[in-house]
Amino acid sequence: MKNSPHVLKGLERVGAQEEETNRLKTAFTANWHTHTWRCKHATGDVADYCRAAVDAGLTVLGFTDHMPLPNRRWISVRMSAEELPGYCQAIEEARPQFPGLRLHAALECEYLTELGGYYREELLGTHGLSYLAGAIHWFPYKDEWPSAHARDTANDPHALVAYTRHLLQMIASGLFAYIAHPDGFAMFYDCWDAETAAAARDIAQAARDANVPLEINAYGLRKPYMSTPDGERPVYPWAPFWDVVAACGAPAIVNSDAHRPEDIVGKVDEALALAARSGVRLVSAVYQE
Ligand SMILES: [Zn+2]
Ligand SMILES: [Zn+2]
Repeated sequence: MKNSPHVLKGLERVGAQEEETNRLKTAFTANWHTHTWRCKHATGDVADYCRAAVDAGLTVLGFTDHMPLPNRRWISVRMSAEELPGYCQAIEEARPQFPGLRLHAALECEYLTELGGYYREELLGTHGLSYLAGAIHWFPYKDEWPSAHARDTANDPHALVAYTRHLLQMIASGLFAYIAHPDGFAMFYDCWDAETAAAARDIAQAARDANVPLEINAYGLRKPYMSTPDGERPVYPWAPFWDVVAACGAPAIVNSDAHRPEDIVGKVDEALALAARSGVRLVSAVYQE
């Protein structure tokens, strides 16, 4: 059967999209956000992610499993302090096995000001980690620590202000090489409005002034979409947030936030496409050796 001109046009469009996707994937050679089984909600160990990274053409792989916290706080989604040396050792052992990959031992961190020197002295110092990624999964609000993943504070503008204040403190601390999913408030705040626009502006300006990249997190694109009064959308990244980041000129980075080896570049093409659409200024490195 002969293709009608209409079908042919459709095929050409699919071909062009495939080309664009491949181009974006080729541009992605460094992933600075990778987990291991130690956080209890990821599968695979260091070597499994390294193998997947080599297969995907990456040359830089940063491991950022969820940090251990004193007193086993929020232990259900992180390693214990005793597991940290084994984690660092697994990364050391992988270095000679994967000579084509530059490996970094790092952690994804909650920010608790009462921990004081723990981040710099213990994690970056004693344990010799390359860098720390800052991330909000819980934030201080009304003398409690609500989860950003939960709906306890759904659409509460005061909670959004508290989240934003906490994120600005993280940036100001100078401890973090980048901020993971800074638009994570999208999990508890449904619709874009003047409050979210103000939060985005504050975050983007702080990141620009401190030169700390904000992460477009592809894991959010791999999760089921959220339904909101404004329709379905990814839990994050939240597109209007990145328009604000772009307008402000703050640096941004794309990471897969892999929790399974097979997701080592999962949906990074979509995240890169979002970056391109918003005109955000992408950087490829968060840490200089
Ligand atoms: Zn995680
Ligand atoms: Zn993560």
